[in-house]
Amino acid sequence: MSQNNLLPYNTMRMSATTKGIIPIYSEQDVFEVLVEELSPLKIIGGGSNILITKDQDAYILKNEIKGIEVIDEDIDKVLIKVGAGENWHQLVMWAISHDLGGIENLALIPGCVGAAPMQNIGAYGIEQESVFHSLSAINLEAGTTRVFFKEDCKFGYRESIFKNEVKGKYFITHVNYILSKSHELNTKYGAINQKLEDLGITNPSIEDIANAVIEIRQSKLPDPKVIPNTGSFFKNPIVAISILEAIKVEYPEIVSYPVDDEKVKIPAAWLIQHAGYKGIRVGDAGTHKSHALVLVNYGNATGGEMLSFAKTIQEEVESKFGVRLIPEVNIW
Ligand SMILES: Cc1cc2nc3c(=O)[nH]c(=O)nc-3n(C[C@H](O)[C@H](O)[C@H](O)COP(=O)(O)OP(=O)(O)OC[C@H]3O[C@@H](n4cnc5c(N)ncnc54)[C@H](O)[C@@H]3O)c2cc1C
Repeated sequence: MSQNNLLPYNTMRMSATTKGIIPIYSEQDVFEVLVEELSPLKIIGGGSNILITKDQDAYILKNEIKGIEVIDEDIDKVLIKVGAGENWHQLVMWAISHDLGGIENLALIPGCVGAAPMQNIGAYGIEQESVFHSLSAINLEAGTTRVFFKEDCKFGYRESIFKNEVKGKYFITHVNYILSKSHELNTKYGAINQKLEDLGITNPSIEDIANAVIEIRQSKLPDPKVIPNTGSFFKNPIVAISILEAIKVEYPEIVSYPVDDEKVKIPAAWLIQHAGYKGIRVGDAGTHKSHALVLVNYGNATGGEMLSFAKTIQEEVESKFGVRLIPEVNIW
């Protein structure tokens, strides 16, 4: 196996050759790659949100920029600057050890800090935008540095400008977050409340919340080190209320969450399960037995096989419910 193969760098365990994998430890390293005029370029962090479907005719920049630094603070807030190659969960643990709140609900999300703004990571009632201040990024075409503030990033549900208008154009080098010294806990997700109750905790700390989230996630989600996967493969679709009403005729029990007066969010896992695709396996590509939204590589599935299985799910869900599922995962 060539050292330029992506196999060790992605949690779906896809094998793919590249023109080279270049570790990036600093902004200077990015500028040096640009001076050498290596192209095309692609960026990878923890490889936990990509499905690689073919060999990559590109140089892969592997983000290793480290460092967590307090750059400003007042009586109840702290502004931190984080190297984009820091592990996200380690950042959450760092915040808790410094008694800084705001990201405890996002414990155990795999991947690097630099990818967190990409899809505005979220879980258990919180998205990273709620603590986001700004980020620094290098334009890979112009070789210039730019700061993006919150309003520039166009954050949405698993969306940002980096997945759309400026896709592939910027290397995010640092992300700045505002964490709080006085904590406003978010336990509105029933599962967190239930877990705290089970543990007999009535006055939880941010550490208690993170521990509850970690326990829930470990009991629900397959560990990519054991069964390769990329977490939720599709986004939860946001649809017109009329579509929900049509589904309810046959399935009155379907769960939904209001988005605005005209739209609702439906769990993609429910749609996949009721299209008959929970725990299904075609060759080595499949859905997890207890989580229909998690596509897994049961052994030696290729990226092409995973993609074709994902397309079958999209078609089956669309033909049964009239809802098109959109991948959350980046297809390479
Ligand atoms: C078991 C499991 C559970 C998960 N749970 C959640 C969850 O609860 N919520 C959630 O939101 N996500 C979840 N995910 C998805 C994933 O963890 C996140 O999307 C994470 O932010 C991806 O980080 P990464 O470093 O692995 O990104 P990668 O997979 O390496 O990259 C993802 C995309 O971002 C781009 N990118 C990466 N770094 C940079 C950078 N520095 N500059 C510019 N572009 C960059 C890449 O080119 C690629 O297109 C889960 C994944 C797994 C495997």
